Amino acid sequence: MLDYFDMESTLSEEERLLVDSARSFIDGEVPDMGDHWIDGTFPTELVPKMGEMGFYAPNLDGYGLPDVSERAYGLLMRELEACDSGLRSMASVQGALVMYPIHAFGSDEQKEEWLPRLGAGEAVGCFGLTEPEHGSNPSAMETMAEPDGDKYVLNGSKTWITNSPIADVAVVWAKDHGEEGTPVRGFLVETDRDGVTTNKIDEKLSLRASITGEISLQNVRVPAENRLPGVSGMKGPLSCLTQARYGIAWGAVGAAADCFEVAREYATDREQFGKPIGGFQLQQEKLAEMATQITLAQLLAHRLADLKEAGEMRPQHVSMAKRNNVRTARDQSRIAREMLGGNGITADYSPMRHMANMETVYTYEGTHDIHTLILGEDLTGMQAYQ
Ligand SMILES: Cc1cc2nc3c(=O)[nH]c(=O)nc-3n(C[C@H](O)[C@H](O)[C@H](O)COP(=O)(O)OP(=O)(O)OC[C@H]3O[C@@H](n4cnc5c(N)ncnc54)[C@H](O)[C@@H]3O)c2cc1C
Repeated sequence: MLDYFDMESTLSEEERLLVDSARSFIDGEVPDMGDHWIDGTFPTELVPKMGEMGFYAPNLDGYGLPDVSERAYGLLMRELEACDSGLRSMASVQGALVMYPIHAFGSDEQKEEWLPRLGAGEAVGCFGLTEPEHGSNPSAMETMAEPDGDKYVLNGSKTWITNSPIADVAVVWAKDHGEEGTPVRGFLVETDRDGVTTNKIDEKLSLRASITGEISLQNVRVPAENRLPGVSGMKGPLSCLTQARYGIAWGAVGAAADCFEVAREYATDREQFGKPIGGFQLQQEKLAEMATQITLAQLLAHRLADLKEAGEMRPQHVSMAKRNNVRTARDQSRIAREMLGGNGITADYSPMRHMANMETVYTYEGTHDIHTLILGEDLTGMQAYQ
């Protein structure tokens, strides 16, 4: 993988080991993601295998979790997304959006029940925040939880939920009507409860090798103990998104770097007008720009890891890195596709698959626009959302 400024030489032994094991896992165990992308399927046999490898929330501690460095976790996301954004999304949702809130805000019973199983990939989780009418502004959500004796009754609908059709448990964010001001609270909702349905969304032209669905909740009764006790308000879901966006900032580097390597190899092999196309200045300019932009994204990800490890990372740092690195991957995958000519539009080569995936990655976990507004507010002190 492209490493123009030799950042790999700064990795610890643990970080190096994780990169190597992720690469050999992808080479040895992961089927052709181009085929899965075409079929619109996720290779579900990988779910427990990724658990065995320790790929879910490896940066958390306790409950048998590996507790690796934040940089090691980021590097893992990079390697997974170099293969396919669907693979990284599986690990991101399970780790950063489901295990993280249970770890950070759950009761001891919730942690003991779910963290070992989710970490091992014996259970699948999903994160239900987005609603049909409320995407970029989730604080306007309509899903509600009403107390009824020792239970809560949940009603509402969530959409665009990664893994909901295969999930055993959903972290559902809902307005708690039992509390003054109806704050947003997280609820662990087992998907086999009466009143829960999780229809699959089939018509995607992006992130096709990932299962996406809805969650419909109709008078779903859950014990009051299923509420996450440790957080109230939007900081609950937003703190999960900060964790996941950190992984995306790293993952996008992987997707872009894979496109670069494919384009460089193609430019070396493919001959036109009697010589490899990589020998023409126009193609060299593309490679030079691609390598520069990917290197900048990589350096940003490494610095972000340092800040996270030191406990100094702010959500706005993550917004800048997610915003920049995904835009880089989106732009550069397109250049790589172009360099492959007609072959570039097939699933035999990864750039157009990455390019299409990036449309989702650019949109979820805060759209590019929303991260622009987060940065704008941070830089001016004035918020411009509405
Ligand atoms: C494949 C996929 C998987 C997903 N997985 C999950 C998941 O697991 N869990 C989950 O909860 N959600 C998930 N999402 C949902 C995702 O987070 C939302 O799609 C995203 O937040 C944007 O919301 P929206 O689609 O409703 O767009 P909207 O919010 O309707 O935005 C539409 C457009 O308006 C722009 N816009 C919105 N507000 C403003 C403003 N104030 N100023 C300027 N422009 C604005 C946006 O940038 C965008 O371009 C997923 C989405 C996809 C596509």
